[in-house]
Amino acid sequence: MKIFSCAACGQTLFFENSQCTKCGHALAFLPDRALLSAIEPANGPESAGLFVALAPVVGKGIRYRQCGNQIDHAACNWAVPEGDPQRYCRACRLNQLIPNLANPGARAAWEKLESAKRRLIYTLIGLGLPLESREQLPEGGLAFCFLQDELATEKVFTGHNDGLITINVAEADAPFREKTRLELGETYRTLLGHFRHEIGHYYWDRLIKRGDHQAGFRELFGDESADYAEAVQAHYQRGAPGDWPTRFVSSYASMHPWEDWAESWAHYLHMVDTLETARSFGLALPPKPEGGARRPESQTRRLDFDDFDDLMGAWVPLTVAMNSLNRSMGLPDLYPFVLSTPAVAKLRFVHEVIESA
Ligand SMILES: [Zn+2]
Ligand SMILES: [Zn+2]
Ligand SMILES: [Zn+2]
Repeated sequence: MKIFSCAACGQTLFFENSQCTKCGHALAFLPDRALLSAIEPANGPESAGLFVALAPVVGKGIRYRQCGNQIDHAACNWAVPEGDPQRYCRACRLNQLIPNLANPGARAAWEKLESAKRRLIYTLIGLGLPLESREQLPEGGLAFCFLQDELATEKVFTGHNDGLITINVAEADAPFREKTRLELGETYRTLLGHFRHEIGHYYWDRLIKRGDHQAGFRELFGDESADYAEAVQAHYQRGAPGDWPTRFVSSYASMHPWEDWAESWAHYLHMVDTLETARSFGLALPPKPEGGARRPESQTRRLDFDDFDDLMGAWVPLTVAMNSLNRSMGLPDLYPFVLSTPAVAKLRFVHEVIESA
């Protein structure tokens, strides 16, 4: 994630802000420019509900509306360009079901879910991945369903099914999530991680099943036609194989080739976003020389790395530094993973699939 600054007063802004803490300007994230900007109401005829961005960028003068979820619930800081007929922003238009806001705690949970989802969508846009809603693409479009245990007839499972991503709202509750993490013996469990994992299943359908990477996939991840229900049962009965750290990015990834892919995909998104954040703050080991040239073969779009070798080369020393910082604060490791050579090969494959998308 980039760091942003207020065009009105220079204050440093974060992706989640909807108002400048120094000058009070309203803020909006402009997905078409990947920019968080101070905004002001537009002047002139027929400008009701429209605003202009103050950030000095190409396209200045383009007008925007606030997302429908901002107008209705003050719950989204993303904007919709004036010419876009949709009422909701690129992240909110993907919602099929949100929690019943009349339920106690539902509002707070929903805000956490949306915040994680917007960060996911930011990276997907940056990587140039296809991102149509079901309205835009009835066959193969994407939708999110935030489901509560008490409303459904049976226990809600977080998962993906043919473009529909379901997240159990209980996962927004930190004590519930930590309890589940300990019960399952996981080293990492976050809302953002759930989004990044489930979207991996979605893109498997779009880029592997309906794409031309099947052979490469099977070579690295194995045969995905292995019985899935059986694999799940075996995983929860016997646990991961003892040598999983030498082959997989996480123990869960050892369950089935689909889960290996989703875990590798999620991990790749962790790396891409975290490295962009680090580089935004000038944090690098070893630091790049000031004004150092980017590699000419750079293919990556808006995010801050040149190619897979650049990403991976910067990543490992950065994670050592991040873990050391956390230990200095008496906190658990920020990055509780160790990447084996086969796991890195899978991450490289994810990178190549995304680059060719
Ligand atoms: Zn300001
Ligand atoms: Zn929105
Ligand atoms: Zn999965």
